[in-house]
Amino acid sequence: MKEIYLDNSATTPLCEGAIEAMGRAMRTYGNPSSLHTMGHEAQKLVDAAREGIGSALGVRMMKPGELIFTSCGTEANNLAIFGVAYAKARRVANKIVTTDSEHPSVEKSLRMLEADGFEVVRISTRGGVLNFEQLENALDEKVLLLTMMMVNNETGAAYDLSRVFRLAKERCPSAVTHCDAVQGFLKLRFSPTAIGADLVSISAHKIHGPKGVGALYVNREILKQKKLAPRLFGGGQEFGFRSGTENVIGIVGFGAAVRETGRGLDEKLQRMASLREYALLKLSALDVTLNVPIGDCAPHILNFTLPRIKSETMLHYLSGEGIYVSSGSACSSHSHAPSPTLLAFGLSPSDAENSIRVSLSEYNTEEEIDRFVECLKNGLGVLVRVRK
Ligand code: PLP
Repeated sequence: MKEIYLDNSATTPLCEGAIEAMGRAMRTYGNPSSLHTMGHEAQKLVDAAREGIGSALGVRMMKPGELIFTSCGTEANNLAIFGVAYAKARRVANKIVTTDSEHPSVEKSLRMLEADGFEVVRISTRGGVLNFEQLENALDEKVLLLTMMMVNNETGAAYDLSRVFRLAKERCPSAVTHCDAVQGFLKLRFSPTAIGADLVSISAHKIHGPKGVGALYVNREILKQKKLAPRLFGGGQEFGFRSGTENVIGIVGFGAAVRETGRGLDEKLQRMASLREYALLKLSALDVTLNVPIGDCAPHILNFTLPRIKSETMLHYLSGEGIYVSSGSACSSHSHAPSPTLLAFGLSPSDAENSIRVSLSEYNTEEEIDRFVECLKNGLGVLVRVRK
């Protein structure tokens, strides 16, 4: 039985380029902080990856500190949020503006800050559309940080962050703008400068790189004005923002994945978007409800609700057929509560519990979608009978 992997928002298979580059890097075991030749060699590998990732983000002539390697997207989000909140110069303003459907690495960080006296305003994303009226009302001189995801990991909704951040720069020019681009990097064309993001989080394992490595882009003005404080203290690696010996092999894999995934990107994205449309068309013939965002969407994520069948039940049925999808996001799938993101989208708690996410990569094909839809159809027949 050929396995069909449709859970690429949870993680992606490693690309050949990353496997090869990491294999080679495993033989370079120097510590980048060591002053001898082996240390320099390791540092050169890290710097080359930084340069390549910076250029994929459209950052020219990167200054030291403009891209900080972390252990994952979660850590990059935590560094951005706590780093801005606790940078000494920033304690005058204490309001943080975000959405009501952020990834737990953002939402749970913000809850910690709320408990510590920060004010957090969550803008509605009902129907996958950001409520600009609420946003305009929330943006004032008290805003310290605006943190918003580029692409929602459960619905695929893509937000117009250039408009959001432009508005923020007009209304509260000293506020820092942060974008969680973990699901947007190499899925939508953007550069931090073009969208007005001061900080951008990305993660390697969502773009065919290894797990356990991410990065935070930091605009040079933020560095100059000391608006970001470190969260890990120690040997002062990563320009003092993230102490701890670098994951050299992972970083090399990240750089190689960005290179390989970024090659011919426009065509890959076009193909992925067409495959998503194809899947939506096929699914619309079944007894399921498509949860398609009203506004813009990323090319790789789609979500639908089953007719009174728990998503977990269907997920196990499909898994038995060698087809892998997700119920909500992988990160929250251990929680039995309905997904807050789907509730924010406008689904009832029971519909949220009956929803399936399909997420594509450049490696998926129409034949795979055909087999998935066929198995889903059979599953609906079997499981509806069991339900009765
Ligand atoms: N932000 C979003 C939107 C995500 O989808 C994820 C992971 O699913 C993360 C952050 C966390 O990334 P990581 O798994 O690298 O910690």
